[in-house]
Amino acid sequence: MTFSRSEIFVAYGDSPSEMVRTLLEKIDPLANADPALRIGIKPNLVVAKPAKSGATTSPEVVESLIGYLHSRGLHDICVMESSWVGEDTDRAFDACGYRELARRTGVKLVNLERAPAKEVQAGGVSLRVCTDVLDVDYLINVPVLKAHCQTKMTCALKNLKGCIPDSEKRRFHRLGLHEPIARLNTVLKSDLIIVDALCGDLTFEEGGNPVRMDRIIAGADPVLVDSYCARLIGLEPLAVEHIRIARELGVGDIEPTRVVELGAPTVRPSQIVTGSLAQSLLCKVHQRQACSACVGGLTHALYRVRESGNRRALDLDIHIGQGYRGVSVEGLGIGDCASKASRNVPGCPPRAEDIVKALQEL
Ligand code: SF4
Repeated sequence: MTFSRSEIFVAYGDSPSEMVRTLLEKIDPLANADPALRIGIKPNLVVAKPAKSGATTSPEVVESLIGYLHSRGLHDICVMESSWVGEDTDRAFDACGYRELARRTGVKLVNLERAPAKEVQAGGVSLRVCTDVLDVDYLINVPVLKAHCQTKMTCALKNLKGCIPDSEKRRFHRLGLHEPIARLNTVLKSDLIIVDALCGDLTFEEGGNPVRMDRIIAGADPVLVDSYCARLIGLEPLAVEHIRIARELGVGDIEPTRVVELGAPTVRPSQIVTGSLAQSLLCKVHQRQACSACVGGLTHALYRVRESGNRRALDLDIHIGQGYRGVSVEGLGIGDCASKASRNVPGCPPRAEDIVKALQEL
């Protein structure tokens, strides 16, 4: 099928490898590509912690992506990263499972921490970008969807900050992060974006409070992908400044022309949330066979509402899960399954942004 920049594709399920394969076989972005294409994969390995911490891109996602590339005859592939300032990227490659992945698949690991960089112009502003990234023919951005204490969220746009030298990262902070991140995306174009939205962090990019959401999202426009993802974690896209600025700079659009969903949300009772903060937010919620995508959205919504100072919402009677199908209850029902509750947020799964609105109105 033709893969349009204005579309979003989402896969649900409990096997990241299968979800990525299903997505890529559906959109087939590199069908008939020149075998000489130089491909760069940029995961998020901000710290040396495994993906289950909520901080880093699952190697299972990247390995499945590499499997797709190989199946299309593409073998000139490197995985590139520079972790945050203070972290050793080689240590992150080891701890996050990428050294093993490189051995199994034959891809090259490029530590951008020590790589040369060159000055590029981004709308009249000079930025220093690693030449290894500028030199690839096709850039695949594989961020984690997670919250961030300074920028509210981090996903496709912000993930490219790992393509600049440490000194430039420090300068980005001095410049307020949002504008340089948006400008960086005018010079580094993500050709394909695969978002690991399996269990990103609830509060910060460092991990520690993972929330299972069991989704993989694909697109080609980082503004569109980030806008879609912002809503999944309870944020209004234009309230995230780097999304707003990137849109103004013409990097992309906010509203998709089509969202294609593949597979169905799944119930994973023993692994729905793994972080203690998430568990404390959900302690009063009535759950009956709830899917992780649904509970994940609710967790993000409750966190946003709590952060806004509305603690009353945490004491409301909230019902969620397939066990509420056809059951009349007093209180707020989350998702189509709980549509018989006296108030309901529709969707299967509903967006956290809509749950936030409903909670704030009650
Ligand atoms: S609405 Fe029901 S089926 Fe849909 S995600 Fe929620 S719990 Fe699962």
